[in-house]
Formats: sequence, structure tokens, C-alpha cells
Amino acid sequence: MGKVLRQVGAFAAIAAVFAVANAASTLAGTPEVLARATAADRPAPGPNPPKGPASRPSFAAWIAGLKTEARTRRIGEATLTAALDGLRLNRRALELESRQPEFVTPVGAYVAALTGKKALATGRKKRRQHAALLARIEAAYGVPARYLLAIWRLESDYGANFGAFPVIETLATLAYAGTPKRRRFWRRQLFGALQIVDRGHAPLDRLVGSWAGAMGHTQFIPTTFLDHAVDFDGDGRRDLWRSLPDVFASTASYLRKSGWQPGLPFGWEAKLPEGFDLGRAHIGESRPFAEWRALGVRRADGRPIPEIDRPASLIVPAGWSGPVFLVTQNYRAILRYNNAAAYALTVGLFAERLEGQGRLVARWPAADRLLSRSEKAELQRKLMALGYDPGPVDGKVGPETRKAIRAFQKSAGKPADGYANHALLEAVREAAHR
Ligand code: CA
Repeated sequence: MGKVLRQVGAFAAIAAVFAVANAASTLAGTPEVLARATAADRPAPGPNPPKGPASRPSFAAWIAGLKTEARTRRIGEATLTAALDGLRLNRRALELESRQPEFVTPVGAYVAALTGKKALATGRKKRRQHAALLARIEAAYGVPARYLLAIWRLESDYGANFGAFPVIETLATLAYAGTPKRRRFWRRQLFGALQIVDRGHAPLDRLVGSWAGAMGHTQFIPTTFLDHAVDFDGDGRRDLWRSLPDVFASTASYLRKSGWQPGLPFGWEAKLPEGFDLGRAHIGESRPFAEWRALGVRRADGRPIPEIDRPASLIVPAGWSGPVFLVTQNYRAILRYNNAAAYALTVGLFAERLEGQGRLVARWPAADRLLSRSEKAELQRKLMALGYDPGPVDGKVGPETRKAIRAFQKSAGKPADGYANHALLEAVREAAHR
């Protein structure tokens, strides 16, 4: 996961945010998030295998074992020979996988960086260019063009950057010598990539992507490709590199299967009544629109929340002093695509801004500073010393730690938003010194 903030595309700058937002997510979701984080990083293959435990087979012996299993999965001999013979390890992929980012970008800075005028202008141009196709996709899947354009922009800068890693070499490297707990995941992706070639969706040399195997315009990893990619132009191949009909349909279909509700936006900026219990404002709490209305929650722009029965959650992505959002199931569908609040929110706001909507009433807090992993661990230790239960001291702010933060904030007479930034750590340090 790259924390390098190179200006090679939006995604590199986002990588750090993803990496940390992702820390609390499931293992299964993890590499998918990583997969999209660093599409722009360039490979640096090296001939020498990394030093590992003596018990590990040589890469060549490991490949031989892999081939045996691939044959039982009915992957053809010609594909295996072309894809795997003479394969080398990709050191750069290993470096990127093991990288642990320390500091991250606050959500507001991230949204601002990715929803600039130029990117929006390009998005509107692309919308005009592909209007007829996008209308057909919306009719078929119920996902409006603006959301597909937003994802396209964030994933590959409208197709300008697919990443440059040879996917099979990279996945084989990670499956052989990557982080042990993720090797099975990489191995599944590798078999997926071999199947994509074997079934003729793309020739071997087209399988370039991010260091984590995310491919094409909207950066699908191989298993997501096999499960969800769609042949919309009807040529018999699912082509996420060269066919925009396939690209848009695949993304829309995946969102729809992830719970997308036609006719709803991702959510709205919200306004809370005086004295609102912020303990209710987290993604884990879902209530029908009507209940939020009854609790006094309003749209920040003053327009009504629709009178329909749909679930929503309140989120406070930059703490109580920043904007608050009432998010729908469609926000959750975007999270399924990439499990980071900063990502889903940016997609949502970018989409709305393409239509001239999505301007925020509240401001993102200025000079907000998030915590490094070691600072988060310190926060957890100090909360524990103060008698709260933040869960295991792992340097990750998950639901348990957030609950402990809220309890601390409540007892200190502060808004209990559960937001872990530097100001909070200072307050906890002070309390612990008393
Ligand atoms: Ca096709």
C-alpha cells in the first residue's frame, strides 16, 4: 500500500487514506482496497528471490506445484506454459505489500484533492461523449452515469492509468512470498487471472494492473472480474481494458449486486438538532429515513429527505466540527467496491458535483491532524489506563476503540463523535497525567 504521494494520478495520493481506513476492515476486503490504492506504481522486477525460511520451496518448484493444481482447475496447458514458464519474482510488489503507512490525509483534504475543477470538467466532457451508452447502462442497472464517471475517475483517471504491473508475475510473487496471512488470497487471485486468459477474455500481455492485481478502467481484481464483469457489447469477451460498454456495465452491475437502490443518491450532507446524541452517528447504526427525521435530522441544504422507507446511517467523517452525512444503501454499495469512508464519500461528492450538486454547507476542519499507528496505540493504552475498554492495543481505531473514545468524550463533557485525531490524543494525555 503506497503512502508515496506522487502526483501520478489521484489514486497514489489516496493510497495512505485507504491503507488506514482499511485497517479495521476484514482480511477479505483488504487486498481489494490495496489493489486500487496504487495503480500508478511502476514495477521493478528483480531476478533474485527474497530470503525466506529454509523450508520454502524454490520459486520454480512452487510454480510446478501451482501448475499441478491449475490443471485440476481445468486451466489449459498452453495458458500455463505461456503464463508461468520463466516467471520471475517482482520485488517491487513485495515492497509495496509490506509497506506500513504512518500518517494519513484527513478526509476533507482528500475530497478536495480529488474533486477539483479540472477533473470535474473532464468528467462532464466524458459524460457528453458517452451519453447514449451511459443512458443504456442506467436503464439496465439503475446506476446513474455520474456515479460510474466518479468511480472511473478515481480508479484510473478515466482510463489514463491502469497501472503497469504484469498481473500474473505480480500475483505469483505475492502468493509465493507475500505476507503469509494473505498468500491464500493472492493464490486465488492468481488462479483467477489464469482463468481470465484461458477463457480468452484478454491475451496474457493485456493483464497489466496495480501491484495487487487490479485491472482495467475500473480496477477489478481477478475474482471480482470473474464473478461480476459483464460482456455488454456482446462480443463474447468481458473486456475491462478496451470496451467501455463492458467497463460501465461491469461496474454498474457490481454496484447493483452490492445493494444499489435506483433513484437515490449516496446520501446528503445533514444538519443535526441541538444536543443530538452523536453516539448514533456511525456506520454501524442503521435507521429508516422517517426515524432520522423524527430525531430532528435534516438535510443541510434545507430540502426534504424523501418520504420513502429506506435505511440510512449518519456518519461524522471528520468529527463533530466538520460536515455530517446521512448516507443511504448506495454509500454502502460504494464501500463494497472499496472499503474506505474517504473513498465512498469522494465518489459520492464527485458524482453529485458533476450535476452541480454536492456543495457542502459545513466546512472541513482546518489543520486537522490524524494519528499515526504508534499514536493510536498510545491512545489505546492511555484510554485503558483511564479505565476505558478500547479493545486490544493494536494501533487501529475500530468500533471498540471508537466506543471507548465516545465514553471518554462524554465524561469530559465533549461532543461524543468518536473521532480520533491529534486534539483527542492531547486531551487523553492530559487526563492520564492528572
Ligand atoms: Ca465484450
